[in-house]
Amino acid sequence: MHAIDAYIAEQLSTIAGTPVTAPAETVARVWAQLDRAEERQLPRDRHGNVQYEELLLTKLNLLEYPPLHGDITVLPAGEAPRWPGGHRFAAVLSHDVDYIVLYPWRERLRQAMELHHVITPWRVGRRLAAAGVYAALSLCGLARVPAFDAWAAEEARHGFRSTFFLLPERLQAPTDLDHFYHYDDRLPFRGHSVPLRKAVRTLQGEGWEIGVHGSYNAAYDGAMLRDEAEQVAGLVDAPVVAVRQHFLRFDRDVTPAAQLTAGMQVDSTLGFSGTIGCRAGMAFPFFWPEGDLLEVPLTIQDVGLLRGIGHRQAVRRAQLARARALIARIARVGGVVTLSWHTHPDMPGALEVYRALLETVAELDGWGCTLGEMNDWWRARREALRQTPVVEHEMV
Ligand SMILES: [Zn+2]
Repeated sequence: MHAIDAYIAEQLSTIAGTPVTAPAETVARVWAQLDRAEERQLPRDRHGNVQYEELLLTKLNLLEYPPLHGDITVLPAGEAPRWPGGHRFAAVLSHDVDYIVLYPWRERLRQAMELHHVITPWRVGRRLAAAGVYAALSLCGLARVPAFDAWAAEEARHGFRSTFFLLPERLQAPTDLDHFYHYDDRLPFRGHSVPLRKAVRTLQGEGWEIGVHGSYNAAYDGAMLRDEAEQVAGLVDAPVVAVRQHFLRFDRDVTPAAQLTAGMQVDSTLGFSGTIGCRAGMAFPFFWPEGDLLEVPLTIQDVGLLRGIGHRQAVRRAQLARARALIARIARVGGVVTLSWHTHPDMPGALEVYRALLETVAELDGWGCTLGEMNDWWRARREALRQTPVVEHEMV
């Protein structure tokens, strides 16, 4: 069998839970999405990211109506349930930890110190001024918005767990768009002021996962990302295999290779912060065409759903309904929706919307899990198939 046919057959078989071979036109359709070759040609934004407006799926209005689901619903079904506990679908829950406190005065100070030779004196001055204002607000007690408490509590109510993606504390090539918290910085956590180190270890001990949030430049540099993953691994004293890149920086030809060099097993960067939907044409995990990296595409990010709405309640309700409809559509095909909410979102109503979406996941019988749990589960499914004697089902 040709390498592409074998690759697509394995992705579809892992979804089905039984070996399948696909007709040539199905292989071509699925390959066109999973390979992401289209992204090589498209205009980039100032962060090097593909502009979602230029994607064919956007132009065809298919981001929220993933076209490959038509092929997936006709797959034969294996005997074993697709999701643990017989759940109908899965929801990977996640948080990018850009801020650990609401007013990061220490971070702004460090940013000014570390970048004073690369950014203009005006910007250094702005960082120092921000540090002063933030320090004052913190002294007044206005900063006590815990980074982790509310998210973990909402998830725990449903028995769910999530992945928190932590940035490194030492940056090899810092930029103005990075964050500068240290693992011994203190933050409010469950009514006490504790070092970040203690808060994340407590969460980890209770089943939450800590992944690495690769810094701005690490999206294109495997050695740098490896150093960052090792910092996070040292923080939690456990292997770190799950990654999402800061600013969702993702170059199809560079980022997965860098993540593999860094020892990552699973990524969830392939999504958008300008809209919601399925960038690879389906709401299922898939192994990247090159190397052994599992991609669990990001489906709904807080920024992509809520930025720019402000306090306009009617618009927020409409966006919530839109996200719920997408989750219901994914539930119907037994797929995976990946949610990503920042720990200190700068949009009003972000927590209320997250709470409502978790309720939707629970009502529709979704498995709320971490990215690492998804990685383990999907790899085990693939491995079981590789052990299965080949009696392939033809798709009709
Ligand atoms: Zn980030």
